[in-house]
Amino acid sequence: MILKRKMVLILAMILFALSISPSYAVSYLANAKSGKFHIYNCPTIKHPNAAHFVPYNSRDAAIADGYIPCKRCDP
Ligand SMILES: [Zn+2]
Repeated sequence: MILKRKMVLILAMILFALSISPSYAVSYLANAKSGKFHIYNCPTIKHPNAAHFVPYNSRDAAIADGYIPCKRCDP
């Protein structure tokens, strides 16, 4: 019985790790209209799922694509 409990606990931890990992993948959102990029939870982003927001997982990648850091969230 104790072994079974451990298995359930391990499975729950794996599922938890899998469920949080996608949020790490997208850390920045670049606005293709303004040419600026933001930390994904920047207060100036009203509609993060809008088509003109491009997700980035690295600051350097956004800069390499020509985006300028937002002054408000300072990514
Ligand atoms: Zn911002």
